[in-house]
Amino acid sequence: MYELTVRSAFEAAHFIRGYEGKCSRLHGHNWNIEALIRGEELDSLGMLVDFKILKAELNKVLEELDHRFLNELEIFVEENPTAENLARKIFRRLAASEIFNGATKLYAIKVFETPNSCVTYYE
Ligand SMILES: [Zn+2]
Repeated sequence: MYELTVRSAFEAAHFIRGYEGKCSRLHGHNWNIEALIRGEELDSLGMLVDFKILKAELNKVLEELDHRFLNELEIFVEENPTAENLARKIFRRLAASEIFNGATKLYAIKVFETPNSCVTYYE
């Protein structure tokens, strides 16, 4: 089994509805994202997935979030834009990419809200 990780990042603002404390106020983060891919079968070049293609697919998903006020996005009208909800939504969007097949799968998305606070989402 092989596991690949690519990292990327985006910047966005949010606040947490119903939270008692500072996070209820508008503020921003530099969100750092890791996508973990697992598979057993390498292609004829000896790659699981080309890092360049994988990073481009991840960046397509993050582009929709970059320099946005997350609470205003359609996907966060009914849910708070917490790191947990972000991780799940990024996972589902990226997992739908055609670069994944039965043998090579998106395994997890990690969302770092700060360098010391990270959520990992699996399915
Ligand atoms: Zn925050």
